[in-house]
Amino acid sequence: MPEPLTPGELLALDRQHVWHPYGPMPGRTAPLLVESASGVRLRLAEPVEGRDELVDGMSSWWSAVHGYNHPVLNDAAQGQLGRMSHVMFGGLTHEPAVRLAKRLVDITPEPLEHVFLADSGSVSVEVAVKMCLQYWRSLGKPRKQRLLTWRGGYHGDTWQPMSVCDPDGGMHELWQGALPRQIFADAPPAGFDAAPDEAYAAQLRELIARHADELAAVIVEPVVQGAGGMSFHSPGYLRVLREACDAHGVLLVFDEIATGFGRTGALFAAEHAGVAPDVMCLGKALTGGYLTLAATLCTTAVADGISRGALPVLAHGPTFMGNPLATAVADASIELLLSQDWAQEVKRIEAGLRDGLAPARSLAGVRDVRVLGAIGVVQLDHEVDMAAATRAAVREGVWLRPFRDLIYTMPPYITGDGDVARICAAVCSAAREG
Ligand SMILES: *Cc1c(COP(=O)(O)O)cnc(C)c1O
Repeated sequence: MPEPLTPGELLALDRQHVWHPYGPMPGRTAPLLVESASGVRLRLAEPVEGRDELVDGMSSWWSAVHGYNHPVLNDAAQGQLGRMSHVMFGGLTHEPAVRLAKRLVDITPEPLEHVFLADSGSVSVEVAVKMCLQYWRSLGKPRKQRLLTWRGGYHGDTWQPMSVCDPDGGMHELWQGALPRQIFADAPPAGFDAAPDEAYAAQLRELIARHADELAAVIVEPVVQGAGGMSFHSPGYLRVLREACDAHGVLLVFDEIATGFGRTGALFAAEHAGVAPDVMCLGKALTGGYLTLAATLCTTAVADGISRGALPVLAHGPTFMGNPLATAVADASIELLLSQDWAQEVKRIEAGLRDGLAPARSLAGVRDVRVLGAIGVVQLDHEVDMAAATRAAVREGVWLRPFRDLIYTMPPYITGDGDVARICAAVCSAAREG
C-alpha cells in the first residue's frame, strides 16, 4: 500500500497538478474532497462548514439516478470484473454489449434499430454528426454537411458538439471562427406547458426549407436544454422539426444525453412529443453513473444509406468501444430502473421540488423558478456567486453546483421526501446568499 496522504496534502497536489472541469490551472477554489459515497450521500474526507456528509442534489451531473454504491450495480460490476473488464471490440464481441444494445433498441422509439457504443456523450454526438454527413455523402449529396440547431443548447465539449452549443455567452464562444459555422434558430420559447408559438414554428420551418440543400441534420436537446441554460420548451416544436425535416430531406438528431432514462418524467423526452428522431444520443445516466459510456442509435434507413456509399463503413472505433464493464453495468442499471415504478418516483420528486422551491419565487434577485420531472431550477437575475452559493448549500448539508445565473438540482430517483425538502431548502439558501 502507498503511504496515505492527508486531506491537506491531497488538496495541495490537486491544486498543483489536476485540471477540473471548466477550471483554470492552478485551481482558484478548493474542491471538496470526497472519501466515499452511498445512497444519496457523499462522505467528505474532512468536515466543511461543519458537515462531513452531503446529500447529493446533482446526481453527479444527471448520471447517478440510483444513487451511489448500489448493491445491484456493484454486483454487476464485480461479476463482470471476474470475467473480463475489457476486450477490444474490433472482430470480437461479448454478451454485455449485445444485451445492452438489444435493450436500448427495445426501449427507445421504434425506428431506432442500430447502436454505436462510444465512451462519452461528446463522442456520441461526434458519431451522430459523422453518421448524418456520411449518409448524405453516400447518397451523392456531399453539399449537405451543415447542422441546424436552436440557441441555448449544449451538446458537449469536443469539436462538432461545440459548434452546435449556444454561440453567445456560452463556454465555447471563444472558438467562434474556428468551429464549423452552423445555422442557428432563436432559442425555443420557454415553458413545457406553453402552447407552441406559431411565429416561432414558422421560423423553424423557414430556416430548414431555406438551407435544405446544405443541411445534413437538425440536432436538438428535446424538451429540456441542459447546460446551455436549464430551460424547458413545448414538445410541440419537436413535431414541427420532425415534419419540416421530412418535408425537406434533412435528418433529425435528438441529443437525449441529459434527458434520457426518465429524468423529465418520460423514459425519453421524445415521448412527450410522440415523435422519433433518425439518430439519438444517450449517455450520462446510461450506466447509473458508474462508468463512462454513451450510445448513438440510428434507424435502418440511416445505416443502409451509409452502407450504400463508396466507403460503406462507419469509420469510427474508439479503443474502449463496447467496454464490457461499462456495458454490463449499463444493462443492469436499465433493468433496475425498469423493474420499479420509476415514473412514480420521478413524479414524487417533481411534487417535492414544486413545493420546496416555491418559496424561492419571493426571494429578491430570483427571476424564475421552474420544475419538470426530477429537475428543479432557480434562475437569478444576476451571475451566481459560486463560492457563496456553494457554501450556503453545504451549510444545509447539500451538494449543489450552480453555473451562470442558475442554481439547479436533479437528485437521484431514490432521494426520499425529507432529503428532497432539504435539497430545496439548500437551493433557496444558495439563491439568497449567491
Ligand atoms: C453532458 C452532455 C453532453 C456531453 O456528454 P459528455 O459525456 O460530458 O461528453 C452532450 N449533450 C448533452 C445534452 C449533455 O447534457
